[in-house]
Amino acid sequence: MTVLGLLMAIMLPTYARARATSEYGACKENLAQMATAFEMYAGENGGIYPNRADLIVPRFIAYMPTCPSVGIPNYRVQTWAYPHAFTIYCRGEAHALAGAPPDFPQYRSGHGMIAP
Ligand SMILES: [Zn+2]
Repeated sequence: MTVLGLLMAIMLPTYARARATSEYGACKENLAQMATAFEMYAGENGGIYPNRADLIVPRFIAYMPTCPSVGIPNYRVQTWAYPHAFTIYCRGEAHALAGAPPDFPQYRSGHGMIAP
């Protein structure tokens, strides 16, 4: 192995982890923006949260955000009528390289961001 090859072998995993951590942070920002839009929607609909993410577009958020790790709008929503609550999460193992378990990060109304 050449010196350059050895350096690449050492640096690439470090670079990949740093990028994954950055993408995890950007995904959390997407969830926070969606949560704000959910609260705005509820404010105009008698305190009821939307049961689908697309109901907040484009009135409360300009477009459905894209998870930077998978390149698609990878967000899922769960809502409950009683008590009024919601959870939004990034589906699957999109952030495994950043150390996140499947279906994280999550934003839960009444709790906020949950991003182990
Ligand atoms: Zn994500």
